[in-house]
Amino acid sequence: MGAGTGAGTGAGTGAGGGGGLDAAFFVAWLEEAAGEIARQRDRLSELDAAIGDADHGTNLDRGFSEVLRTLRETPPASPAQALMAAGATLIRRVGGASGPLYGSAFRQMGKTLDGGEAPRPSVTPAELAEAFSAGVVAVERLGKAAAGDKTMIDALAPASRALSQAVRDGLEVREALTRAARAAADGARATVPMTARRGRASYLGERSVGHEDPGAASSALIVTALATAASRTAAG
Ligand code: ADP
Ligand code: MG
Repeated sequence: MGAGTGAGTGAGTGAGGGGGLDAAFFVAWLEEAAGEIARQRDRLSELDAAIGDADHGTNLDRGFSEVLRTLRETPPASPAQALMAAGATLIRRVGGASGPLYGSAFRQMGKTLDGGEAPRPSVTPAELAEAFSAGVVAVERLGKAAAGDKTMIDALAPASRALSQAVRDGLEVREALTRAARAAADGARATVPMTARRGRASYLGERSVGHEDPGAASSALIVTALATAASRTAAG
């Protein structure tokens, strides 16, 4: 991966300039995600009521509110720090399957970006795509879910592929993230006709058909927040 194009990009530029994504960009992502989850909390819990136990929206809203508090108390100095703090908080604060799964994804993203060396103030879009992909693999490992099992993987995996492809094609970061968001939303919608094979919804078997998976729906919100953060910080 190397130094990338963002080597002199000043802090606070977010997603603007030479492609450097800094701590402010990742904080903006988490803020956007928290806001959207709060606004759609009831919809997420209603989706979970149909094929689970009706707590997905409240679970995530509680977890992401706590993430915001953590980030305010200890402003992160690097993208990796922001992601690791978010991951640890979600693992600690969200009861239910989705907390450890999302928590592991964020932590793994952070670990991938840090590379075990000194915290880096900004990362390139290619490094973000690589870290996102590592986060999805962490969810797959922990949850033992594959594509088509009607889980958050059905939104996250296509988003990751779209992001990597867009970066390889040399698209600028906002467009790349917009494509990832579209792929996640399409992926979430595509869970409707699936039969759940993992998590609580799998207890319903065929009766899970006809409902969107709540975790896939929240994943679409989280990936859309990434695209929103890119527009917001680049504009600022
Ligand atoms: P719980 O099912 O424990 O009540 P939530 O309601 O917060 O937890 O989250 C449910 C969502 O978590 C599901 O819609 C699904 O997307 C995701 N999920 C559950 N189990 C798995 C798994 N093994 N692998 C991947 N995702 C999973
Ligand atoms: Mg639930």
